[in-house]
Amino acid sequence: MKLIFELSRKGRKGYSLPVLDVPEINLEDYLGDYFRQELNFPQVSELDVIRHYTNLSKLNYSVDTNFYPLGSCSMKYNPKICEELSRWEEFASIHPMTPEEFAQGSLEIIYKLKELLKELGGFSEVCLQPAAGAQGELLGLLLIRAYHRDRGKEHKRKILIPDSAHGTNPASAVICGFEVITVKSDANGELDWKDFSEKLDEDTAGLMITNPNTLGIFERKIKDMADALHEKGALLYMDGANFNALVGIAKPGLWGVDVMHFNLHKTFGTPHGGGGPGGGALGVSEKLKPYLPVPQVEFDGERYFLNWENPKSVGKVLAYFGHFGVMLRALAYILIYGQEISNVAKYAVLNARYLRHLLKDQLVDPYKHVPCMHEFVLSASNLAKYDVRAIDVAKALLDYGFYAPTVYFPLIVKEALMIEPTETESIDTLEAFAKALEEIIKCAKENPQKIKSAPEKTPVRRIKEAEANRNPVLRYPFRSS
Ligand SMILES: *Cc1c(COP(=O)(O)O)cnc(C)c1O
Repeated sequence: MKLIFELSRKGRKGYSLPVLDVPEINLEDYLGDYFRQELNFPQVSELDVIRHYTNLSKLNYSVDTNFYPLGSCSMKYNPKICEELSRWEEFASIHPMTPEEFAQGSLEIIYKLKELLKELGGFSEVCLQPAAGAQGELLGLLLIRAYHRDRGKEHKRKILIPDSAHGTNPASAVICGFEVITVKSDANGELDWKDFSEKLDEDTAGLMITNPNTLGIFERKIKDMADALHEKGALLYMDGANFNALVGIAKPGLWGVDVMHFNLHKTFGTPHGGGGPGGGALGVSEKLKPYLPVPQVEFDGERYFLNWENPKSVGKVLAYFGHFGVMLRALAYILIYGQEISNVAKYAVLNARYLRHLLKDQLVDPYKHVPCMHEFVLSASNLAKYDVRAIDVAKALLDYGFYAPTVYFPLIVKEALMIEPTETESIDTLEAFAKALEEIIKCAKENPQKIKSAPEKTPVRRIKEAEANRNPVLRYPFRSS
C-alpha cells in the first residue's frame, strides 16, 4: 500500500478556506527558526484521504474481525452494548470535578461496581483507581510495604515470585523497592512447595502468585501458601489477570489472598485499548484497607459521597477516580450476566480443554497429565529437527487469518505457544484453528522453508523485531522537491 505522501500531486486539494478578512502576515517572520521549510505536506483530494484511511483501517487485525488466541490476555469479544453505554453523553461528558450532589448517578456506578467486585473476589474493599493490571500490582505492593512499615517490619523486603510469572510481577516488585526471590515450579507446573518453604523466612514481605498460573494450571495449594505466609507475618498477592477462569465460581479472598488485581479489560468485557485506558481494580483484605488510596466512593444510606479520610493512605495512583468509562462497561457486563456470570469461567475452561484435546498430537504438551483451566501452553520443540521454531508456527498462522498465540512465554517452557481461546469462541472457530495448526505442522515437516518464510499474505511480512525496537523509524523521510 502507498503512503499518503506518495499519493501527492502538486496543486490537488481537499479543502477550501474562507476568504481572508484580516490582514495577511508572513508566518516566517513570526516563527523564525521554528518555521520548517522542508515540510512537504501531501497534496491530496478529500477522496484520496478517505480511501487511504479506510483502506488502512481494513488492514487492522482485531477481535472484531478474527480469532485472537493470545494467551494470558483474555482477548474475548466484548459486547457492543457496553461500548454504546459508555458513549452516552450523560456519562461521557460529566466533569470529574462535578460537585457530588450533581454526580450521584456516576458515583453510584462506581460504588456498585466496587461492591460487585468485592462480592466476586471475596474482598473487604476494592479500589478502582489503577489504570491497568501492572499498576494494580504496583499499588498492591505499595500497600504491602505500608503494612509492614506500619508494624516496624522494615526488614521485610523480599517478595517471592514463581519462575512462571508474568514479567510485570518482578518489575512491579523492583519498582517498589523489594528484592525479588524466584521460586521454582514443580513437575505439575505448580509452585514447588519445597523451594517455597525454604525461601520463605522472616524477611519475606509476601508472595506474588498468579492463579490459575500462566501455564493455565490451577495452584491447588493456594490456601496452604496463605497460611504459611501469614504465619511468618507475610502477605499473599494474587495476580488476578486470569480471573476469567474463576469468575462467579471461586473467591480468592476466601483462600486467604490479601490483595489481588482484577484486569477489567480481560475479565470484565472492556477492550484492551492499545495500551490504555484499562482498569486494574484492586481487591484487598481487612489488613490492607487502612492504606488504600483516596478518595473511595461510599454510600451513607441516602447519598453517595467521596471519602477522602484515610490517614495511612499510600496516596493516589491516578488522577481523580480511575477510568470511569471502563468501570461503566465492566458494571454493565457484570449486570448483563447476573447470576450466570459463572458461565464465563465454565465456557472459558471448556473451550481451552477442547482445543487442547484437538491439538494433543500436533505439538508437545509438557504438562499433559495436568488438567488446564482457561489456557494452556504447548511447545514447538518437536519441530526443531525441521529447523522450525515457535515463531515460525505463529507467523504461519497469520496466513490462515488467525492471530498468533503468545510465544516464548512462560519462560520455563521451551519454544512455548500459549493459547487462550476464551469463552466467546464457537466450536467452529476452535476446530478451524486446530485444522490450520495441523496443516502448518504437516507443512513444517514436509516443506519447512515455506513455514519459515511465512507470512505471505499480510501487508508486511516478517519484521526485524529487535531492530525495530532499538532503532524505530517513526517519521516519513521528507524529500524536498
Ligand atoms: C496481562 C497480565 C498482567 C498485566 O496486566 P496489564 O493490564 O496488561 O498491565 C499481569 N499478569 C498477568 C498474568 C497478565 O496476563
